[in-house]
Amino acid sequence: MTNVIDGKAVAAALRLRVAERAAAFAARAGRPPGLDVVLVGEDPASQVYVRNKGRACEEAGMRSAIHRLPADTTQDALSALLDRLMADEAVDGVLVQLPLPAHLDERAVLARIEPSKDVDGFHPANVGALWLGREALVPCTPWGCVRLLDHAGVKLEGARAVIVGRSNIVGKPMAALLIQRSATVTVAHSRTRDLAELCAEADVLIAAVGRAKLVGADWVKPGAAVIDVGINRDAEGKLVGDVDFAAVAPKAGAITPVPGGVGPMTIACLLENTVRAAWRRAGYGALDL
Ligand code: NAP
Repeated sequence: MTNVIDGKAVAAALRLRVAERAAAFAARAGRPPGLDVVLVGEDPASQVYVRNKGRACEEAGMRSAIHRLPADTTQDALSALLDRLMADEAVDGVLVQLPLPAHLDERAVLARIEPSKDVDGFHPANVGALWLGREALVPCTPWGCVRLLDHAGVKLEGARAVIVGRSNIVGKPMAALLIQRSATVTVAHSRTRDLAELCAEADVLIAAVGRAKLVGADWVKPGAAVIDVGINRDAEGKLVGDVDFAAVAPKAGAITPVPGGVGPMTIACLLENTVRAAWRRAGYGALDL
């Protein structure tokens, strides 16, 4: 199907460009860009994510380090590690893998990461800068969605966009990015009335919910661009998105699959943010990527 957006291919191309910029940075700075990832506890999904991020960094010629802390780590011990990473000049990006164990204060942890090293884009200063339309480190998943829409040639200016999901990591920053691109944006959530009808008016539909196959063909306007952020397991344990791909793909103008859509872009955009952070901290000026 020609309308399927190949996230793997778009991500691979971005990773190549990032690797070129990482090499240019290393030649100038005398060291590669570096990402430090902090993992607290032993959540199996988080372990996989963290390992993949580290591997992707190394493939792009960047330094990566994973700091594994036990599940009963105290707030003070985590803060001390973050303070050490903030003071280390060779650390360009720091990411704390979420979710954290319940006894830790996530908000305080995220606020402890300096905005210039905040490659997840979750610090209030980066969130504010994004909404003000200023230079910011932007959350990787929504940024990857914009890159996929651009790759597919979807016109955002003047488009009606509906985002289903209002989380701080996907839905809200997605809204900020699409407003910046002059789309007319509606953000829907669990309390939205007439959700199917609302979605069926969208030229661009972003599903970021976490409910397998929530979005069916009757939710989608013919020719719409559909971006599926969701990661779920269906009854057979197969990885599926929030969109019923088989039903929606024939109707959509462009659609991302799960797996192989948004997921690979999230990691590629994390690498992009790390090189951007390194470039900016070194004062090397604008970075074209
Ligand atoms: P989240 O924090 O749980 O937020 C889910 C959002 O969906 C909430 O705003 C919730 O509304 C809304 N919602 C829940 N049920 C709904 C329903 N029946 N109808 C309409 N809205 C509903 O999740 P998240 O972190 O944003 O992640 C969303 C999905 O994306 C998950 O499947 C996650 O695994 C996936 N994800 C993928 C990537 C990637 O790289 N591909 C990255 C991040 C997340 P309320 O606010 O009213 O509760």
